[in-house]
Amino acid sequence: MMNDHVRQALTALVHGEGGDPVPEDARELFGDELFAPAEGLDHEQHCRLTYRRLRRLGERVPPASKLLADPLALFALLERCAVSSPSLFLGMTVHTCLSLGAVCEFGAGRDDLGEYIAELDTMSSFGALLVTEAGVGNSHVGIRTEAVYEPEADGFVLHTPDPSAAKFMPNVGLPGVPKLGVVYAQLLVSGRNRGVFPFVLPIRDADGPKPGISITPLPETPFMPLDYASIVFDRVRLPVRALLHDSARLSANGQFHDPLGGPEERLPRSLDIRHRAWAASASALAAAIRASAAMAVRFAHERITLSRSAPEQPVIAYRSQQLPLFEALATAYVMTSLVNRVKRIWAGAVPESDDPCWSPGQGFHRTIGLAKAVSGWAAERVAAECGQRCGAHGMFAANRFAGYQGLGHILGPAAGDSYLIVLESAKAMAAGTAYQPPPGIVQASRRDVSALPVAVGLIGMRERGLHAALAGGMRTAVRRGQPPFEAWNNRSWLARELVETHVTRLALESLITDIATLPDPGAAQAVLHLAEFVALRDIRQNSGWYLSEEVLTPAQVRAIPASLNRLCEQIAPQALTLASVLLPEDMDLHAVAYPTSCATISSSSQN
Ligand SMILES: Cc1cc2nc3c(=O)[nH]c(=O)nc-3n(C[C@H](O)[C@H](O)[C@H](O)COP(=O)(O)OP(=O)(O)OC[C@H]3O[C@@H](n4cnc5c(N)ncnc54)[C@H](O)[C@@H]3O)c2cc1C
Repeated sequence: MMNDHVRQALTALVHGEGGDPVPEDARELFGDELFAPAEGLDHEQHCRLTYRRLRRLGERVPPASKLLADPLALFALLERCAVSSPSLFLGMTVHTCLSLGAVCEFGAGRDDLGEYIAELDTMSSFGALLVTEAGVGNSHVGIRTEAVYEPEADGFVLHTPDPSAAKFMPNVGLPGVPKLGVVYAQLLVSGRNRGVFPFVLPIRDADGPKPGISITPLPETPFMPLDYASIVFDRVRLPVRALLHDSARLSANGQFHDPLGGPEERLPRSLDIRHRAWAASASALAAAIRASAAMAVRFAHERITLSRSAPEQPVIAYRSQQLPLFEALATAYVMTSLVNRVKRIWAGAVPESDDPCWSPGQGFHRTIGLAKAVSGWAAERVAAECGQRCGAHGMFAANRFAGYQGLGHILGPAAGDSYLIVLESAKAMAAGTAYQPPPGIVQASRRDVSALPVAVGLIGMRERGLHAALAGGMRTAVRRGQPPFEAWNNRSWLARELVETHVTRLALESLITDIATLPDPGAAQAVLHLAEFVALRDIRQNSGWYLSEEVLTPAQVRAIPASLNRLCEQIAPQALTLASVLLPEDMDLHAVAYPTSCATISSSSQN
């Protein structure tokens, strides 16, 4: 049995040393009836409920502009939103991180934006971000909405040149809900394109869309219902203050200067706003993984089952249940550690590192994006598996497994397409941009693959090998004179493998660092077993690579299942405690996420 010291140490590892940064009365809110899973609603009722929840949240938490300045509190709050309702998370993230974030970031130091900030702070309008366009894929790099500067009016005319440039999928479709938008458009001054800039403007008020703006609600999205819509601008006049000009300057006589250079340099800067949303998404996804693992591990300990070969006992006694559930538990710890490191660096709460992946700049931005992408895949997988392992009980909406699976699924394209993030990241890593592959030598005897330093070393070797294959292939293509499209296209299949291996290594290294700080040896040992489990499962899943590269022998690969069995035996006595700290204390599993049906079954089984 684990004692209180162990529990305390594990809680600090998962939720941070400094205690919960979310204000107490905001925490209590999630136990309110308004935030309880709602059944039998149609799409519009569901959307309206999300805005009512957002408003209630807005009454209890500091204004969004204050939250932006306290990233650890903001991320912790968004995690609670995600565990409570994925739609609530998306609404709050778009409002705070993206819409208000863009106004504060690109309007820093200005005194003419106070009205917009106050509107968002009081939630008299909700924020929206309008970047994506409907007509072509990867539209962020080819935005066609235009904002033409008119010196005589000292303002802009915002226009959608044709229907394929309609803005696509912001949550602005619900009648009666005022929306303030940040719209990305090409800035045209004196007939010259000056690059993509954000513009702030009211999109709709309580009476409907503002003049010149057409809003068409989109069909329902079952995974994360919200009032998504497409939007067309017909020569909408904007005052000059609508331009969030950042470091660029536009004078009344039409003189324009951008210290960054030109449109090529401006676009990535304008899209910088994504990074906060990526960090928020990764935080939410890690929280969804924790919630799924916590519920399913607990259920498996309480669910008594029958078998012809064994007496009645909790289903967790079966290895077939342990393997997937301990994998979920281990994934919760390893992804949490990775994402916690991302959050701490974002908040400036840790000293700078020599590793470009963890130092502010291109390398760290890539790590944030990859944390979002990989935790999305993991959340989808873990929530689905945990739901299945709860049998029919896992299927009820009140359990939220389907909601968490949906969160992982929909945060693939939402908040910046994860697959494109992966592809771009791999390309940059192959080019050696802010990236060094790990050393390729595994120290000491490789006999025991399950020893953590050996296992992490092996994963590092694979990362190095995949990087060498991709980077070498790209160099060969250049030598052969292949055009850039073919050069990349023929090798892009390596991208996902490379970044998944890279992220697994980073996450394991983070967890190992966290383990070293644990004051309690029992807690350290328990988490160490989870790290070993993650590493060994990864090596087993990719055993084809290790065999074909002659890094491991067939005998070593054949020995892995026995090592996983051993690990299961070591994890089993601690699994319930490890799972019990995964949600903040105030989000009690029975109150928040444990289904009535399971609670009934479990209490009757204990009688
Ligand atoms: C729930 C939700 C909410 C959203 N909210 C907003 C919002 O508030 N504001 C906003 O502006 N947008 C929003 N979006 C849009 C979102 O940003 C886009 O869906 C996302 O960027 C992907 O763009 P797309 O849908 O046009 O897909 P596409 O770009 O058409 O991609 C389709 C597929 O092709 C792949 N692909 C595309 N281009 C390439 C390429 N060059 N190389 C290789 N593969 C490629 C993609 O990875 C994907 O698999 C939202 C989306 C969702 C799902």
